[in-house]
Amino acid sequence: MTDKRTELSDLGEFALIERLTQDFQNKHPETLRGIGDDAAVIDTGNGMCQVVSTDLLVEGVHFDLTYMPLKHLGFKAVAVNVSDICAMNATPKQITVAIAVSNRFSVEALEELYAGIKTACSEYEIDLIGGDTTSSQSGLMISITAIGTAAQESITYRSGAKEYDLLVVSGDLGGAYMGLQVLEREKEVFKANPNIQPDLDGHDYILQRQLKPQARLDAIRYLKELGVKPTSMIDISDGLASEVLHICKASEVGCHVYDEKIPIDAKTSMVAMDFNLDPSMCALNGGEDYELLFTIEQKDVEMIQSNPNFTIIGHITNAADGIYYVDKSGSVVTLRAQGWKQFD
Ligand code: ADP
Ligand code: MG
Repeated sequence: MTDKRTELSDLGEFALIERLTQDFQNKHPETLRGIGDDAAVIDTGNGMCQVVSTDLLVEGVHFDLTYMPLKHLGFKAVAVNVSDICAMNATPKQITVAIAVSNRFSVEALEELYAGIKTACSEYEIDLIGGDTTSSQSGLMISITAIGTAAQESITYRSGAKEYDLLVVSGDLGGAYMGLQVLEREKEVFKANPNIQPDLDGHDYILQRQLKPQARLDAIRYLKELGVKPTSMIDISDGLASEVLHICKASEVGCHVYDEKIPIDAKTSMVAMDFNLDPSMCALNGGEDYELLFTIEQKDVEMIQSNPNFTIIGHITNAADGIYYVDKSGSVVTLRAQGWKQFD
């Protein structure tokens, strides 16, 4: 330790991780990939690997129990981890669950949380194999570690994108962020006047996107059926812009992302416009959609184009060409990630 004090907000999340972990070296040849991807990759022999990922959800930072039912929270905590396993093109198999709870919660409330975890375990066919339980003085924390398996040759890293590859996204984007905006708005209305009932009518889709996101395990299966192995892949937790930048940085490539191609559901667009927000900006910077972003070789274009689950949104270029966003008017601007600034 030196006397110098650096504020967390000076670094931001990714620079902080880099700084804290820069002096660690892997000691085992089985550790094929450590820090820096959606999950670590461990060689288990015979051409097979295990992939491992951890996510921590903290009350007041990642969820608000005013509008997040505990059952949904349990489901979402599992889904976000399964999503990271999917991003490696692997099959999720087991989870461990660690919780820190205050005596504000009843046993029944925690049973609700576990009912959601159970639903996710059945939907994604995973086993709950352990965890830890402890007390907390400041709200609920839930940390899940997910383990998956894959043949070594089928694993997709963030670092595999090549010039001329196409950039593809599953599903549609921006919905989870708009769901959050509606929930926050209704919370403010309720705080101002508890007699007014929240007006959530007609917002089922975006609320579902925020409160009960699905990991795209189905998309991984479609890719397998189509015989397409992405050259790189990441899941969209922090917004499309941030994830595109991760792929480009890890793969040392540039890219063009076309605004007009970004899939946004009509319901998401309508609510965004109600809030005076540009739907594209919600897709780029909103986050929590848990869709998959990946790159494919040109030879796989037809397979992907003909599948309604996937949309081609851009292409990969040489690193020297830069990372660009082409807006609706055709103007080319440098792509930047706003994402969440957790430490501000
Ligand atoms: P994701 O958004 O896909 O969950 P993160 O951005 O959280 O990934 O993490 C990026 C990488 O940094 C991952 O490899 C993760 O395991 C690693 N990482 C995150 N926090 C820490 C930490 N405190 N110590 C060591 N590694 C970390
Ligand atoms: Mg991820």
